[in-house]
Amino acid sequence: MTSFSLKSQGITVENVLRNLAPAKLYAEAIREDPKSALADSGALIAYSGEKTGRSPKDKRIVRHPDSEKNVWWGAVNIPIDKQTFGINLERAKDYLNTRGTLYCVDAYAGWDPAFRTKIRIICARPYHALFMHNLLIRPTPEELADFGEPEIVIFNAGEFPANRQTAGMTSKTSVDLSLNSGEIVILGTEYAGEMKKGVFTFMNYLAPSRGALSMHCSATADKKTGRSSVLFGLSGTGKTTLSADPRRMLIGDDEHCWTDRGIFNIEGGCYAKVLDLTSDTEPEIFHALRFGAVLENVVFDADSHHVNFGDARFTQNTRAAYPIEFIPNAKIPCVAGHPTDVILLTCDAFGVLPPVSRLSADQTMYHFISGYTAKVAGTEVGVTEPQATFSPCFGGPFLVWHPGKYAELLAAKIEQHKVNTWLVNTGWSGGAYGKGSRMKLSITRSIVDAIHSGRLSDAPVVRDPVFGFDVVSACEGVPNEILIPRMSWADKAAYDQTARKLAGLFRENFKTYAEGVKPNVLNAGPVG
Ligand code: ATP
Ligand code: MN
Repeated sequence: MTSFSLKSQGITVENVLRNLAPAKLYAEAIREDPKSALADSGALIAYSGEKTGRSPKDKRIVRHPDSEKNVWWGAVNIPIDKQTFGINLERAKDYLNTRGTLYCVDAYAGWDPAFRTKIRIICARPYHALFMHNLLIRPTPEELADFGEPEIVIFNAGEFPANRQTAGMTSKTSVDLSLNSGEIVILGTEYAGEMKKGVFTFMNYLAPSRGALSMHCSATADKKTGRSSVLFGLSGTGKTTLSADPRRMLIGDDEHCWTDRGIFNIEGGCYAKVLDLTSDTEPEIFHALRFGAVLENVVFDADSHHVNFGDARFTQNTRAAYPIEFIPNAKIPCVAGHPTDVILLTCDAFGVLPPVSRLSADQTMYHFISGYTAKVAGTEVGVTEPQATFSPCFGGPFLVWHPGKYAELLAAKIEQHKVNTWLVNTGWSGGAYGKGSRMKLSITRSIVDAIHSGRLSDAPVVRDPVFGFDVVSACEGVPNEILIPRMSWADKAAYDQTARKLAGLFRENFKTYAEGVKPNVLNAGPVG
């Protein structure tokens, strides 16, 4: 095992282990990292400590004269100056330089050769290295030998806190991106998803400036035609679950770009939610959790090391990271033709949005810019109502340009390629959270199948009196009363009231964008 020099990155540690094979990273994790263990399935279990999800409030972007006019500054992109970034970068390097061993992963983001970007991860936990080995596109030995200098470097010093006395730090966690120098610094969070979404944020900056649309979506392709379908949606709406579809080829579960040639996956792996995962309902994902996969923050039996996917003791957000080829129908390389369908997923915990609606071009823009989903009542005492969440482009936290930039690109591509667009509710049916129940996965799968077969384009529809879109009223595999939500609610007055309430929340949220969109998009929202 030869050591690799990271001197050009200011790393003085002698023992740098670069692109270790998973088996060797396992050995390192079991030997060196008390927060790692081996599951009986062969997956590597790891704990991320206190942070078990992303820390969006702690993200910072360096304000730089070359990029500042392009950035959508605000709550998502909070500026820091170059000097403060330098302080955090030095803190991260100083911490990493105290370690006896460091891990380095050199790999790519972007399956389209014209967009391929060289990424380097420098980290101190073997699990972080295995995670990015799984999530990025793995170089061949020849490609690794010719890798040269990376375009983006992630300094993951997540075990070490940020200094709260540093200007602009509001907690001990800081995730800082310098778009101009291609550096990402992570302090005070060991949640591995920060690295993956850091790369995505970079892609969200680079792609639009090159005429490509970066998208927070999963994607599948038709086995015969190679045409694709993309599923946008916020966290927990079903992107990953629905893209593991035995009838289709898997292109990717989370991050894609749409170019003049079609679509490509940014990543080389998937990051699935595993709470309550079963082999019956999600067999492809379940069987991917074998040797090589990382299982984050799950609970396992002390004797058998068997994982209990139903236990949310550490977090609701238990996760698995595995290479995309662990899913049987993955298409390598992860590229496909232009989409036939764009599906907007929402998990409506109010239970008023129909399981599937057809959207006009203007309605698509309205809903894309709104980016609605809902969170179910948390564990807080007294909170019984669902909470509406609006996040532009179904990926607000990762946008760098103004949402309008991505919306314009999407509108143009949908028109050019004559794409059908759909709004699919994977959330509640028969009543709001507390009264109704989550849409059965089998029902949503039938709907997605019907969309992909082309059958749903000719299906009968009825106009929704509150939201104004066309609701599909007959679909194989779905009972008719489920398709029209008002029919599945026992209390019709409660339905009407809840629907109007949600419509009001849409209108309130859209005020922010009213001035920046065309009147026909503004008028494509709720009508009732
Ligand atoms: P993220 O952006 O955080 O990765 P995601 O959109 O990929 O989120 P999934 O990982 O697919 O979300 O999570 C959807 C969860 O909801 C899964 O745990 C899945 O089992 C569950 N689920 C229950 N009912 C449905 C349904 N009808 N459609 C889709 N998912 C469902
Ligand atoms: Mn996902």
